[in-house]
Amino acid sequence: MSEIPYKSKLYTVIREAYKHDQRVEDYLKFRVYYEKKSVRSFGATYTPENKTIRILLNGTNFDDLLLSVLIHEATHHVQYVMEGKTDHSSNFRNIQKKLLFTAMNLKYINPFKLKAYYKYLSSYSEASKVIQMIEEYVKGKEKDCFFIGYIIPYDKNEIAKLKEAGYKYCKHGVRGLSNIWYKFSNIKEKPLYTSDACVILQD
Ligand SMILES: [Zn+2]
Repeated sequence: MSEIPYKSKLYTVIREAYKHDQRVEDYLKFRVYYEKKSVRSFGATYTPENKTIRILLNGTNFDDLLLSVLIHEATHHVQYVMEGKTDHSSNFRNIQKKLLFTAMNLKYINPFKLKAYYKYLSSYSEASKVIQMIEEYVKGKEKDCFFIGYIIPYDKNEIAKLKEAGYKYCKHGVRGLSNIWYKFSNIKEKPLYTSDACVILQD
């Protein structure tokens, strides 16, 4: 068990979001640990008693998604300091949104990328809430990150082609989607496949 390097980004986000709040130092008083095994069969938890966040790092939980999950857990801490309790009420969502928007302003999270993670690659039950927040944030902004994914029948040569083209593999996507080969790009790419045997996911 060791503390994750990602926490410095998380602390910067909280410090920036609450820079005019007298209690900001208290909002920063929590610890983050990563686990390799599933945390209570879920991705992450926050325990108020010892002010500790535990988060699963297993290879599919990383990058913009990881920071957004950390923000969810840190929101529990901030709300706990503010109210002496924490839940998923509208107060919770307001804090979460403030932190998420700050992380996107700081360019720690690309909103378009995060949206695709929630839509196709992650099974967090949070998805619809976060996607709603992202849609509010990106309104009127130019899209600078495109997601493309394929679900194709197994074929050694096709897999080699995808790897060569920079695609990554995601074994378990959101409910009903698995074995996805995906890529993020700053330009909208033409699909590699057009066959009916292949499912194309685009965002
Ligand atoms: Zn929660």
